[in-house]
Amino acid sequence: MAAEVICVGTELLLGEILNTNSRFLGQQLAKLGIPHFYQTVVGDNPQRLKNAIAIACQRSSILIFTGGLGPTPDDLTVATLAEFFEVPLEERGEVLEDIQRKYTARGRSMSESNRKQALLPQGAEVLPNPLGTAPGMMWQPQPGLAILTFPGVPREMERMWHDTAVDFLRSLGWGQEAIYSQVLKFWGIPESTLAEKVADLLAMDNPTVAPYASMGEVRLRISARSASEAEALQLIEPVSQKVREMAGSHYFGSDEETLPAVVVRQLQERGETVAVAESCTGGGIGATLTEVPGASAVFLGGTIAYSNEVKRHWLQVSPEDLQTQGAVSAPVAEQMALGVRGSFGSHWGVSVTGIAGPGGGTLEKPVGLVYIGLAAPDGRVKSIQHRFGENSQRNWIRHASVRYAIDHLRRAMLSG
Ligand code: ATP
Ligand code: MG
Repeated sequence: MAAEVICVGTELLLGEILNTNSRFLGQQLAKLGIPHFYQTVVGDNPQRLKNAIAIACQRSSILIFTGGLGPTPDDLTVATLAEFFEVPLEERGEVLEDIQRKYTARGRSMSESNRKQALLPQGAEVLPNPLGTAPGMMWQPQPGLAILTFPGVPREMERMWHDTAVDFLRSLGWGQEAIYSQVLKFWGIPESTLAEKVADLLAMDNPTVAPYASMGEVRLRISARSASEAEALQLIEPVSQKVREMAGSHYFGSDEETLPAVVVRQLQERGETVAVAESCTGGGIGATLTEVPGASAVFLGGTIAYSNEVKRHWLQVSPEDLQTQGAVSAPVAEQMALGVRGSFGSHWGVSVTGIAGPGGGTLEKPVGLVYIGLAAPDGRVKSIQHRFGENSQRNWIRHASVRYAIDHLRRAMLSG
């Protein structure tokens, strides 16, 4: 059985505050390797809170509550829990004294309503709150069920989690294992295609394999649950290897590695340099490569050749081709790559020319049509056509063009 997080507060339902407590607890439970299948948000209403408790204890064995520990009438988490499990509340002298001490220290006197915060169900242990007045509790109201309560204030909750709650969960036998994961990264393959290729791995239990995607970059997280990192790596490695084999050259790196960093490293290892000629990306390739520390060893510079005039004058693109083929064409992309390679004296020349939109598209050359040119150290040149789709956003076309341009360079270096 697993843990369930129950955040109490009408303000959460109304969207007035972001539920960062559930994010924190989700991350922490994952770190401890404690399975966690449900999160609930419920308003400050005793009947609905009772319903949530009833459902949660059917399906989970650790219930973690945040919010509703304050002194006001709408703070009802502890009283409702006691009522649900039919256990009387009792005033804890040591908690009351602690609250009084905290008020005195701030030069205030405790109000009668604060007494309520010293009430805990019989048998519950105090979960101390070093940063605020309301303590939480650790309670096992019935065999096989553990309940933790925390105040809603994130700072207090987080401190109490680290100081006390983790040890409590460990003492119950939870969190003996941790989750270790590796993230494999891919470019140039849709998430669904990758998922199909590795379909049998996606059904595994330990490690688990899960794909996700962000801004065109597809990632696959391989997570293993185990008692030690070494053991986890033993579980992860064969799966990781299998995925990389199946994905071929679409795989470019793992964990902290980024596409531009991989390409900069490849160039460094080969002792080669690159220069870029950018039309529709307006310097994006240069900006992306120079994000990588150490790029100066391999990146010489580039020309932002937005107008035809600049393409002609600075990159020696043929005026005839510009006229007859258009600026967005394979021959122009190739001449841009060759031109920048020649004038900068680099090993590689990379170019981009395309229609980022929203205007400027035609039937023949729609928005999203992009050519990437690649001139190699041996002087050979090629171009690759991309069609990102007429309905693509300008930002996306430019972003994808930058990434594809860098990726084509990576693949060219891989293959020779
Ligand atoms: P207090 O003693 O301050 O009343 P409490 O335990 O009763 O604490 P709440 O009244 O529910 O907790 O929330 C106090 C504050 O904590 C909220 O105003 C909000 O800013 C923050 N908070 C509550 N729940 C969450 C949550 N799930 N995620 C992030 N912040 C939260
Ligand atoms: Mg409150």
